Amino acid sequence: MTEIIAKLEQIVGSTDVLTGDERLARTPAWETHQPCNALAIVRPSSTDEVAQVMRLCHELGQTVVPYGGLTNLVQGCVTTDKDIALSFERMNQIEEVDRTGLTMVAGAGVTLQQAQERAEQEGLFFPVDIGARGTCMVGGNVSTNAGGTKVIRHGMMRDSVLGMEVVLADGTVLDSMNRFLKNNSGFDLKQLFIGTEGVLGLITKVVFRLEVTSKSHNVALLACRDYASVLAVLRNVQDDLGANLCGFEVMWSEFIKNVVKPVGKLTAPIATEYPFYIIVESMGTQIGTDDQAFETCLESLMERELVVDGTIAKSGQERDAIWSIRHEVEWLVRNAFNFDVSLPIASVHEYVENVTKRICADVADAEVAAFGHLGDNNIHISVLAEDHSDENTYRIQKHIYEALVPYRGAISAEHGIGLEKREWLPISRTDAEIELMKTLKRSLDPRNILNPGKVIALD
Ligand SMILES: Cc1cc2nc3c(=O)[nH]c(=O)nc-3n(C[C@H](O)[C@H](O)[C@H](O)COP(=O)(O)OP(=O)(O)OC[C@H]3O[C@@H](n4cnc5c(N)ncnc54)[C@H](O)[C@@H]3O)c2cc1C
Repeated sequence: MTEIIAKLEQIVGSTDVLTGDERLARTPAWETHQPCNALAIVRPSSTDEVAQVMRLCHELGQTVVPYGGLTNLVQGCVTTDKDIALSFERMNQIEEVDRTGLTMVAGAGVTLQQAQERAEQEGLFFPVDIGARGTCMVGGNVSTNAGGTKVIRHGMMRDSVLGMEVVLADGTVLDSMNRFLKNNSGFDLKQLFIGTEGVLGLITKVVFRLEVTSKSHNVALLACRDYASVLAVLRNVQDDLGANLCGFEVMWSEFIKNVVKPVGKLTAPIATEYPFYIIVESMGTQIGTDDQAFETCLESLMERELVVDGTIAKSGQERDAIWSIRHEVEWLVRNAFNFDVSLPIASVHEYVENVTKRICADVADAEVAAFGHLGDNNIHISVLAEDHSDENTYRIQKHIYEALVPYRGAISAEHGIGLEKREWLPISRTDAEIELMKTLKRSLDPRNILNPGKVIALD
């Protein structure tokens, strides 16, 4: 053991191989306070150092768990005392922003917020945004194909990646730093590493596609009496706001009640007795015209009573206040069983009612709160229950995932599989798909040293 530590120290320097208290202070699973018990946390500062570390680990059959910002919610970075953790935190340079080509080249350890702020400084826009922006890193975002609140307009992280540099399990450096929107020169190899949670390769650097900054920005909080109205509102804003529509978030009343006073800490901008709340966001390039279109669209929805209450933000502060309701999820993430599923939009409420009924009948004192990115088929379900035993966890998971089967739903819309959802993967993927995933894993990582056991288990 000391032999490998000494060799790692030769590669990255002794101060960047953490083995003592500094290592224990890390928590590889965001929602727990468990200390990191890895053999060591290694912090390379360059692609060359990552490649040297991987060559060594490949030779020794040493397992490696990649660490980004450690905000994943699926036990994707769980580490045993036999693994080394490889943290990208020192690879945190934004190398370049091309104002005309609309690209950014960033190291894997750049936080999402740093990337967003740098784009903004250049008068550009980084399209992916999630609540963990201050901590999560772009390498982790790409590895999980992160989604967030603007997917309806900008797509997921996959849609913002043009190229990347990857270190393979044996230390080979794959330079796939494409910067073009169009490049059909052979296989698009970067896709192998997007959303595959560090089991096929280590992303060291990424070429991102940026967008131009919007000038108009409108946000409203709306209330609806029933789910049919929610769907009608979605169809109407799609038609009326067109490409400007960039957010459509729905919150069921149980969610809202836990966020606003007296139970939660926020002040509700509208009454809180309705069954459904929607945040609609629109961004465009025509101030005045866009604002007018937004208001006209919402007025028409109110006249037709598809919307029964609502408020339009009049300032940046009011926009933030509305979004804070949706982003106030830490109470759920820390205390609840959290799920992140996709299914046809028209069936989402039926599904929520079904799982609520099943869980409340089976689990003592359970409460179910639903919210999420309805505009892109994705709903988060949080189950609040006292008993966090393995047995209870399994029962709740079974209700959530088995109820997806009739809809051919996805057990993960955006958070990924990690260890947490691995055994449920056959609900969303066929045997042939899982077999192909294993073939790719064996081919790219024959010694099974990269984040072993996450997503798929090799026999
Ligand atoms: C409050 C909160 C809100 C969130 N909201 C959203 C949301 O709206 N949408 C969403 O999609 N997610 C959301 N998440 C989940 C999480 O933030 C994302 O999954 C995020 O992309 C993880 O990034 P990270 O840097 O923390 O990665 P980590 O958690 O460190 O790692 C994630 C996975 O990628 C691997 N990995 C990390 N870096 C690399 C690399 N450079 N190369 C190869 N593999 C690597 C890890 O081993 C692990 O399997 C939220 C989480 C929190 C805590």
